[in-house]
Amino acid sequence: MMDRKRSLWAWGWEDRFPDDDARRALAAQVAFLSSGPAPSLRSAVPEDAIAIGPARLEVPSSIAAFTSADPGLRARRTYGRGYPDLVRGFAGDFTGAPDLVARPRDAAEIEALFEAAERMSAAVIPWGGGTSVVGGVEARRGPRHAGAIALDLGALDRVLEVDAVSRAARVQAGVLGPALEAQLAPHGLTLRHFPQSFEFSSLGGWIATRAGGHFATLYTHIDDLVESVTMLTPRGRWETRRLPASGAGPDPNRLVIGSEGILGVITEAWVRLQVRPRWRAQASVTFARFEDAVEATRAIAQSGLYPSNCRLLDGREALLHRVAFDGSSVLILAFESHDHPLEPWLARALAIAESHGGSCPKGPRYSDEGAKVDGDAAGAWKAAFLDAPYLQSALVSLGVVVDTFETACTWDRFPSVHAEITAAVEEALRRTCDAGVWSCRFTHVYPDGPAPYYTFIGPRRDGALVDAWAEVKRAASEAIARSGATATHHHAVGRVHRLAYDRERPELFAAALRAVKATVDPAGLLNPGVLID
Ligand SMILES: Cc1cc2nc3c(=O)[nH]c(=O)nc-3n(C[C@H](O)[C@H](O)[C@H](O)COP(=O)(O)OP(=O)(O)OC[C@H]3O[C@@H](n4cnc5c(N)ncnc54)[C@H](O)[C@@H]3O)c2cc1C
Repeated sequence: MMDRKRSLWAWGWEDRFPDDDARRALAAQVAFLSSGPAPSLRSAVPEDAIAIGPARLEVPSSIAAFTSADPGLRARRTYGRGYPDLVRGFAGDFTGAPDLVARPRDAAEIEALFEAAERMSAAVIPWGGGTSVVGGVEARRGPRHAGAIALDLGALDRVLEVDAVSRAARVQAGVLGPALEAQLAPHGLTLRHFPQSFEFSSLGGWIATRAGGHFATLYTHIDDLVESVTMLTPRGRWETRRLPASGAGPDPNRLVIGSEGILGVITEAWVRLQVRPRWRAQASVTFARFEDAVEATRAIAQSGLYPSNCRLLDGREALLHRVAFDGSSVLILAFESHDHPLEPWLARALAIAESHGGSCPKGPRYSDEGAKVDGDAAGAWKAAFLDAPYLQSALVSLGVVVDTFETACTWDRFPSVHAEITAAVEEALRRTCDAGVWSCRFTHVYPDGPAPYYTFIGPRRDGALVDAWAEVKRAASEAIARSGATATHHHAVGRVHRLAYDRERPELFAAALRAVKATVDPAGLLNPGVLID
């Protein structure tokens, strides 16, 4: 396991990338979906054939102990894992590589890095796990920057303190999901924050991007799990007090959460924990009509039951994830608790779903002693969910345009928002790829609205993949902005979602954010172009 290698360009582990047989099967599915010929298998440019240009900065002695201009390291800190990142990485285009990669081991080294960057007029790009899908970790320089430094937080990866009484832990920001949970496990506690990118994303990245975990209701956004934070800025330390709640003015935590690395570097946080669940309950409900499934999901979201999973898949999404093959929509319901058995909760949620035309042919499943209960549809869903990022990378190698985006809106507007978005995406796919498909699921539901999540797939035969992707994304973002939904529910803004974000936020808020930035980062070192210009 020690030698297991992350792919330079694709999602995840090199050894999990689908082999040629699997890619051929995928190509046949694309041919079926698009009624066209099967795309041919292409190979990524090998690592030793990739040219990384010379660094524009020299490593100053004050940061030499933890900073490098090594081309291999710079290549691995060039891209996140958004669609254009995958395409450029696959093609061996690493022209945007940072000039230096710094891996500080403590706060003093981060402060030294800020000083050196200011002296050199270098941009500083905080790097957690590098799973950004919105261009958040790209080493872009502003016009005043002589170069760019990727600030890798990977050395700050420890749980420092556990308060078992209040159920909270002080955790360094660079820790990735599995290492965090492994350090909490001996205490019987869990952060219970599981974004799809969990394996490769970091606590600091989750906080910086307001990440959403895979639980569908209640404490699913990282926002609710942060008790206090420490952020280092070029003008000093921003440290908040540990409190369960406070009414003392605007919340200084909330300015850090979602700041996407433009205000400072989050070095640690106290996070709220939970006891590992013992009881679990799960059921899958099928609906002939998507509209009925939406109404059932709304009723459950407003019932006060708060299921841990309440994921609605439309017919195509259920098909793509091998959950149902007859066009039915599927609602996957689950509850979990460390405290009590769950029969009454699931029984009531099923009764609500059935009153809206749903049926649960396989019945509910229950377990205690912490055993998982992923039967039938839920099991198929989970396996496909974890495979999906690998499949996206494989589709890039077949020359297919494929991506996801998400939003949120109130229930009253969902039908019109959904119609606006899907019409725009369908038209853009027709224009750019001749054919293509989209699908929709709800990843999260709130009493006042859902977070719909869309997947689009279209083969592009002339190889201009990023252009086609950009057109579909632009069409989707414009439809989101027009329909009054949000620029993003949990994928962050970065550089990719600026269009809808700029239209969504009040102009005075944008001016206030620029003023905060001017206070904590007057030289404009941090993440130029993200969130604000
Ligand atoms: C396959 C896949 C699935 C995904 N699933 C989900 C999902 O389920 N839910 C979800 O919310 N997101 C998801 N994402 C998006 C991404 O994983 C999240 O945005 C995640 O929070 C990023 O964490 P990271 O550690 O990888 O951050 P990075 O990608 O390294 O950075 C993201 C942004 O945060 C800044 N940043 C990172 N660390 C710090 C720090 N310590 N201090 C200040 N700024 C910092 C960076 O500069 C950048 O702007 C997914 C992405 C992929 C590729």
